[in-house]
Amino acid sequence: MKKIRLLTPGPTAIPESVLAKFAEPVIHHRTSLFETEFKVLQDHLKWLFQTKQLVLTLTCTGTGAMESTVAGLFSPGDSVIVVNGGKFGERWTKLSKTYGLNVDEILLERGTAVSLQELEARMRANPGAKAVLFQASETSTGALMPVKGIVDLCRTHGMLSVCDGITAVGILNLPMDEWGIDVLITGSQKALMLPPGLSFLALSERAWKATESSRLPKYYFDLVRERKMQEKQQTAWTPGISLIHGGVESLRLLREEGLPALFERHERLARCTRAAATALGLEFFSRSPSPVLTTVKVPESFSVEQGKQIQKIMQEKYGVIITGGQDELQGKILRLSHFGYCDVFDVMTGIGALELALADLGHPVRFGSGTGAVLTAFRET
Ligand SMILES: *Cc1c(COP(=O)(O)O)cnc(C)c1O
Repeated sequence: MKKIRLLTPGPTAIPESVLAKFAEPVIHHRTSLFETEFKVLQDHLKWLFQTKQLVLTLTCTGTGAMESTVAGLFSPGDSVIVVNGGKFGERWTKLSKTYGLNVDEILLERGTAVSLQELEARMRANPGAKAVLFQASETSTGALMPVKGIVDLCRTHGMLSVCDGITAVGILNLPMDEWGIDVLITGSQKALMLPPGLSFLALSERAWKATESSRLPKYYFDLVRERKMQEKQQTAWTPGISLIHGGVESLRLLREEGLPALFERHERLARCTRAAATALGLEFFSRSPSPVLTTVKVPESFSVEQGKQIQKIMQEKYGVIITGGQDELQGKILRLSHFGYCDVFDVMTGIGALELALADLGHPVRFGSGTGAVLTAFRET
């Protein structure tokens, strides 16, 4: 028997009461039964996004919401500035180029956040850019971006702020209306503690205005059509009915915890994880630490192959699934995720399995040094 434990930055573990919802019968969506339930979800989402705007629910993963945003706001030949700090920043670039936009990319050293001075210089050099597309938290490197600063600069320079908050919404404070974020996106399999398959996004008044002049082609991912339907608690196409059903429960759980406690829990788990990494002598990879996930370098004595083995042993021998680096970071970093349905005991489990895997690979480990540091940090904070 092997118990599988998921400690990855999406999909994340799902609470038992949410799982139970997926065993219930599927209802038809063109019914008042669905509309009543969808209304509850919409209300919870406004709370989560800290917005008065309607939060749209799309049946696709986060990338689909990113694509709807690009197709929905812009016209052929428009210029946008992209903050590319990793795989997901690169996705904004590829997506925008696919739609024929001119992309002015700020390519960051992996593991770093964008500097606001550099961004402002880029805005000055490219005053015609319509928007800045960025991640709140770059999941591939664990770098946290200065969201409020980016949004403020966008306001000053008359550009839209388009924030991929897929590993940020429900983890750290991103008050959409208060900060004036123009587009905020998230996905079901991250902090929302659901399986993959839904994405959620909200647009400011300014962003909705921009949709009126957009001339890029769109059909399935048409935000204006969706808004018309979702204002009436309906969807343009058949929605992920079961996921919505589960979402009402997962959001109820988050709302019961409350935003301040939710953000504090993630901060605390991040501190526990960092303490463990330090105790194990692991060096941090991200220079802009985030409450979402902690990225560490594999020990220097390890080859890339051995680096990849850590994750493999943790999964195959101990049933604990974490993620390593992608592309050029493969075998070089470990991504220790601590968000969603996650508490201090999940962090202990992950660190415990990491200690075992490192020892299996011949790395000197004093058992309990990492897990002990987790408990100590937990008590101290
Ligand atoms: C997971 C993730 C996405 C979306 O990826 P999908 O595979 O489409 O769900 C986008 N941006 C960030 C920052 C992510 O972490």
